[in-house]
Amino acid sequence: MNARWIEVADRVHVRRHEELDLSLGLIVGDEACLVVDTGGDETQGAEWAAAVRTVTPLPWTVVLTHAHFDHSFGTKAFLPCPVFAHPNCVDELVVEGAADKDNWAAYYDRQHRPDIANAIRATRIALPTTLVSERVTVDLGGRTVEIEQFGRGHTDHDLVLRVPDADVVFAGDLVENGAPPAFEGSFPAAWPTALAGLLELTGPDTVVVPGHGEPVDAAYVAAQRADIAAVVELAAAFAAGSITLKDVLRDSPFSVETTSKALASLTGRNRSAR
Ligand SMILES: [Zn+2]
Repeated sequence: MNARWIEVADRVHVRRHEELDLSLGLIVGDEACLVVDTGGDETQGAEWAAAVRTVTPLPWTVVLTHAHFDHSFGTKAFLPCPVFAHPNCVDELVVEGAADKDNWAAYYDRQHRPDIANAIRATRIALPTTLVSERVTVDLGGRTVEIEQFGRGHTDHDLVLRVPDADVVFAGDLVENGAPPAFEGSFPAAWPTALAGLLELTGPDTVVVPGHGEPVDAAYVAAQRADIAAVVELAAAFAAGSITLKDVLRDSPFSVETTSKALASLTGRNRSAR
């Protein structure tokens, strides 16, 4: 698994993975560290845990930003430890985890990546142990991390993390860089409100770490929020009969493919999300 570290602020690290352009996070305090997401299978989780151990020997807490396989299937490699997530994240792992394993293993078979496909098949899904419905503060010793939920968006359980002393926010897949927002299984109409909540945590110098891609700033998040809101507005105009589907696809800030996924999510008709 090709990956490299970047340190986005003092003792706040991001592990950037070539596969899926995934970004996993590590926040180190004086007495403990916090791991943001665990990777897409148990093997990747073990590699990620080993990489964390090259940075710090401190005990870890895991936070899952959401249940999608690439963010949560590596958890087993970190146990035993506290695993924070939103209650709906647990529901999704219980209800959809087995099917997600099958679907993503099949996806990697089609990509001729039997290594990843087999690692996903062999993964034992580990459930979160500590539930966060609204807001929780975790003390790492000399540094705190705030975990918050701003309603539905990329999923119905996206958690956002903030490291106040470092001015860093981990956005999960509420924000993507280098790729459009992942609308499969999402809640596009609510998404801009969730991003408004996230933006309230930011200032002009805040580093925002997306679930995929390089870190961005608040202005980038605001622009992505405006794009998502624009698609929802176009969909509303289409639903009201004032414009055609062709108009929606032409005027959307996103590609036809991405816009179609957003529209499908607005009608609740798709899954297989990441
Ligand atoms: Zn996702």
